[in-house]
Amino acid sequence: MKKDITCIVCPKGCTIHVEYDETGIKSMEGYSCKRGIEYATAEILSPTRMVTSSVKTDNARYTVCPVKTSKPIGKDKIQDVMKSICCVKVKAPVRQGDVIIKDVCGTGADIVATQTLEALEKE
Ligand code: SF4
Repeated sequence: MKKDITCIVCPKGCTIHVEYDETGIKSMEGYSCKRGIEYATAEILSPTRMVTSSVKTDNARYTVCPVKTSKPIGKDKIQDVMKSICCVKVKAPVRQGDVIIKDVCGTGADIVATQTLEALEKE
């Protein structure tokens, strides 16, 4: 199999051509430094992504709170993680960095709030 990968480690954006099969990577061309080799290898063997989304809120001015994973997770887990996130409702106040879901779907990553939301004042 062949795949062209754009390295996003630095602004140069090298296009790395990779040939691989089920046993591993056979050849790689187009990178300009070893960081590109590491990036392309990870993209082929175990691709990961940061996930950003939002959760519903209660007792806050805004109806949703933006969240993200605390570290990249395997691409194969993204759908499960999104399902977990969509079921959650957080009650304000929420602080930026608060853990909303610990070890989401057993990935070792937490879902954390990326914005502070104050609680609505009682009238
Ligand atoms: S291979 Fe090296 S030089 Fe090219 S984009 Fe990646 S990090 Fe930058």
